[in-house]
Amino acid sequence: MAMKSKVLIVGGTGYLGKRLVKASLAHGHETYVLHREEIGVDIEKVQRLLSFKQQGAHLVIGSFNDHQSLVKVVKLVDVVICAISGVHIRSHQILLQLKLVDAIKEAGNVKRFLPSEFGTDPARMENAMEPGRVTFDDKMVVRRAIEEAGIPFTYISANCFAGYFLGGLCQPGFILPSREQVRLLGDGNQKAIYVDEDDIATYSIKTIDDPRTLNKTVYIKPPQNILSQREVVQIWEKLIGKELLKSSISEQEFLAIMKEQDYAEQVGLTHYYHVCYEGCLANFEIGDGAEEASKLYPEVKYTTVEEYMTRYL
Ligand code: NDP
Repeated sequence: MAMKSKVLIVGGTGYLGKRLVKASLAHGHETYVLHREEIGVDIEKVQRLLSFKQQGAHLVIGSFNDHQSLVKVVKLVDVVICAISGVHIRSHQILLQLKLVDAIKEAGNVKRFLPSEFGTDPARMENAMEPGRVTFDDKMVVRRAIEEAGIPFTYISANCFAGYFLGGLCQPGFILPSREQVRLLGDGNQKAIYVDEDDIATYSIKTIDDPRTLNKTVYIKPPQNILSQREVVQIWEKLIGKELLKSSISEQEFLAIMKEQDYAEQVGLTHYYHVCYEGCLANFEIGDGAEEASKLYPEVKYTTVEEYMTRYL
């Protein structure tokens, strides 16, 4: 059997990153996690890193401010996965990855790089709205740097993180589902795709030694999880045995409210607009040069929307 790649996770303390560490270890990869010097006395992060070590990961010290430190850690592994922050209401550091790309280029040994993507495919968002397009633009800058450096890559388009979208019944600003009411975005009929964050990590790890995913975009589209907001609400109503009171927010109202918010909020709302009013995640067929994760890996028993939502009962 082929040797399993050694993996470095950058951003391993994060919301998605910690799941990538777990999945990498679970799939038997020798797993290295970057311990940034800048963590300082962030006790939660340090404790999380120590727990990775207890589970068998290697912690490696490095800094985005020290190129040679990054080159040194990259040289230890075959595959680099970056899950650096990219949500403005939390933190957005996507362009810092250019430093990681420089290190990977100099190290010269990396067989696959998965940059911090894990959302809407930025290549399909050339016409995205301001200010949220910054997320896609920055991710495309990183893609260009990767491709110009000739670094082998896989881009994971993970669609909607379930925790954000299902938790809030697809309403921005909510991450727990109400048992009383819901506001539909428009008619609530645009389809989107919801993926359990642990499943995103599992599928991502599955791609790294797979020649079918080399230099490709992999979309994660679990077939049962392609649903409209109304369908998500129906699933929740079935689970709680009660109908919610429904209202609706028109496209014009949504955009008007968006303009009154601060910058970080506007970025997030722009993304909801493209997903929920335009249906940007589910309104295209996967073309040549791309793959779909649940087809590539039918053995993964993904979490359905209904299963995910039972955790809120
Ligand atoms: P987090 O906000 O949890 O941050 C991840 C990690 O980024 C941190 O733990 C830290 O890692 C690293 N980081 C933060 N600031 C800095 C800095 N100044 N310098 C270096 N590293 C830093 O990220 P998420 O898990 O929320 O996001 C990961 C990816 O997923 C992003 O690309 C994001 O756009 C995408 N995403 C997609 C969503 C969707 O619905 N499709 C929803 C949310 C995110 P450490 O300290 O370990 O170095």
